[in-house]
Amino acid sequence: MIRASSVEESQPVREGFEGSAYYALMTQALSEILQAKKLVTEREIEAFIAGLEAPQPEWGAHLVARAWIDGKFKRRLLENGRAAAAELGYTIKEAELVVVENTPDIHNLIVCTLCSCYPRSLLGQPPWWYISKAYRARAVREPRAVLKEFGLELPPHTSVRVHDSNADMRYLVLPMRPDNTGHLIEQELMALVSRDAMIGTAAVGAISEVARPG
Ligand code: FE
Repeated sequence: MIRASSVEESQPVREGFEGSAYYALMTQALSEILQAKKLVTEREIEAFIAGLEAPQPEWGAHLVARAWIDGKFKRRLLENGRAAAAELGYTIKEAELVVVENTPDIHNLIVCTLCSCYPRSLLGQPPWWYISKAYRARAVREPRAVLKEFGLELPPHTSVRVHDSNADMRYLVLPMRPDNTGHLIEQELMALVSRDAMIGTAAVGAISEVARPG
């Protein structure tokens, strides 16, 4: 049994974590009640949590690499992200998946201004900065400045489109395939695609940059 006071004492005050002790306590209490009523076992809860923690950016990179290689798959991915993800064995549980394609003229950036909506069942947990108040506010107000701080300077002719995620809609950026990657197989292409490139705060580097030793 967790005492509220002991949880609160062990939690330093951090931005975005207000009230976490309360929710930790309520979660623990609910878990104990459900187990006491034999509605769920501890093993089932652990398996559910493991399922939540399994997704990782490589899953998203798999979709991106396949889209780069297979034009028909790319069309299906842009039309219906969830159905295309299912083709590769990934189940998008939380919402619709909208895949937005970067081009020389349009750069896409993803945010959730309200909270922390993110394609978790594809990319896993969001990075800390994604849920920070600063990113959520500034990504819509001054996206170019934010991108510059991430080290991404776009040409002046490239427009920035910011997509605000919500309970019904999760976004994934399909980055541009770098030049000189025509000889790479799917797995090698996957290795080029970072989590941040699928959020839109990074581009996929040229092959010479990625392959540079050291
Ligand atoms: Fe949200």
